[in-house]
Order: sequence, then C-alpha cells, then structure tokens
Amino acid sequence: MSTGELSRLQRTLGISLPSAEVAISPAWHNEQHVRLWVKRDDLIHPIISGNKWRKLGLALQQIMQQKPCQIISFGGGYSNHLHALAYCCQQLQLPLRCIVRGDYSKNMTPMLTDIQQWGAKIEFVDKLTYSKRNDEDYLNRIKQQFDNPVIIPEGGSQQQALHGSAEIINELQQSYDYIVTPVASGGTMAGLVHGIDLIAQVSSKILGIAVLKGQDYLEHLVKDLLPEAQNRSLSAQWQILHDYHCGGYAKKTPELISFCEDFYQDTHIKVEPVYSGKLFFALKQMIEQGYFPANSKILAIHTGGMQGNRN
Ligand SMILES: *Cc1c(COP(=O)(O)O)cnc(C)c1O
Repeated sequence: MSTGELSRLQRTLGISLPSAEVAISPAWHNEQHVRLWVKRDDLIHPIISGNKWRKLGLALQQIMQQKPCQIISFGGGYSNHLHALAYCCQQLQLPLRCIVRGDYSKNMTPMLTDIQQWGAKIEFVDKLTYSKRNDEDYLNRIKQQFDNPVIIPEGGSQQQALHGSAEIINELQQSYDYIVTPVASGGTMAGLVHGIDLIAQVSSKILGIAVLKGQDYLEHLVKDLLPEAQNRSLSAQWQILHDYHCGGYAKKTPELISFCEDFYQDTHIKVEPVYSGKLFFALKQMIEQGYFPANSKILAIHTGGMQGNRN
C-alpha cells in the first residue's frame, strides 16, 4: 500500500492530519492527580467525522484504484459512518448505496437528508433484514444484484480500517500510560491496539469506553478484527469498560447532558452525548474514583461525531 496515494486522497478531500494533541485541565475532582491530553480527531475535517475517516481512508484509496460500479454500506438513521462515507463518495464521484435500519422515508433525519443530497441511494430495511448485514448468504445476494460491488460493513469497521486508526499511535508526540477511546463497532479500538503492537516503544494501555450495552460482544468484535497473532499476545494491553454507557446506545441521562455543557465551558471542546460525551464523562468519574495511579499520563481520543449532535 502506498502512503503517498493516501496523502494525496486526504489532500483532495481537505483532511488535515496529523490531528492536534492538546493538554486540558477541566475542573474535576482529583483532576490535579493525573495529566490529561486530547487527540483532536474531531478537527480533521468540517464534515467527515474523525474516526470515520481513519477507518475509511485506506478502503477508499483502494476503491479509487479499481473504480467499482457500486459501493454498498450499512448504518442506522443517524449514522456518522454513512454520513462521512456519502460525503467522500460525492467528492470522489463514487456511486454509493446505503442500507439503513428502519424506515425513515416519512421522517428523514438530517443525516439521511444530507446523504441523499450528496447523491447516494438509500434503501430502508426492517430490523430483521438489517440483522443479516454480516451474513454470507445475504451479502452474496447483494453482490449478485449489483454486479460485484464493494461492501463496507457497518461503522466502516473492517480489516483495512485498522491501518488508519493505528496511524493515531504513529502521530503521538509523547508517550502515555493510558489511551482512552469510545467503542461501538470496535474498529477504532482494534486499530489503536494494532498500532501499539506495530510500534514497539509504545506501551500504553488502551482503555475502551463502551457506549452501548455489550459486555463480551464488544470484546469479540475487537478480537475478531485484530490479526491472529495480536489477538493472543496483546490481551493484557487493552480493556473495555462497561459501566459508562448511561443505559445503552444513544441513551442520555440528565447528568450526561449537563456534563457535556460543563465540559465545553471548561475546555472549549465540544462533545456530544453519543460518543465523546460518554468518553469524557467516564474519564471524569474514573479520575474521581481514583482509577488511575497518581501522575498517570492519559490521552483521550476525541473521535469527532459532532454532526450527529442535531435533530
Ligand atoms: C462511530 C463512532 C465511534 C465508534 O467507533 P467504533 O470504531 O465503531 O468503535 C466513536 N466516536 C464517534 C464520534 C463515532 O462516530
């Protein structure tokens, strides 16, 4: 794979990498006992959500070399992934078909409206059909129907996605004891773990904050994405925490919502309640509870997603 071509693609789309790495000191109890930084992947592009580019970059670069007739991908009605992908496809003149869970045809979300305006086709399917999105039979049928399309799984989380998220580790300006990221479909977390393994002198522990109820399920998603060897050797280097999802995917509590507002007041960094808000809210609670040893250096990955913060 040629990094030169990926850089060219990033320039074409106006992606600005590496992302900034900034120190913060929010007014949290016990915050003075640790040292906190944020990797601002939320700032890499005004439309393309941070970790979605990390996951899609290499796949799109490969697609550009083969010019397929059709790209097909999956997501919910508020999907940051489909939104980012649809924008990229419009810019790169690649035909995209989005398979969306649930029928939003009469109450389109702002994301779906954007996606449609950018020229992608949307197909609404019921929950049962959507649940087959990774089944071989179902995917084979789609492949026949569309003359061998490129299929990108939900969230963009596939093997090629690891390369871009691993690049986060490559960009780091200093070493950290902990790197903390939100986890939904696991691609970002798997990429960070992969990155740690590729770069021998980095020994940070990767902590994932589950944004949905998924004990064991999320661990399996991450393991399945990791190359075999790492899958076994690195199990001690990463861990997913399940106490901070606030009731499930996209569920919000009043505490979470006021936390997001306070965090912005404190740091001037915008967060939303689905991913980054839960990440920093978890960090606040962990720091208050003394989870991290004194003087730990902690890096939080702000994965972006601000486009999702509208209704
Ligand atoms: C999709 C998304 C995530 C989840 O990343 P996974 O790789 O699916 O675990 C986290 N943050 C934001 C902003 C996202 O859009």
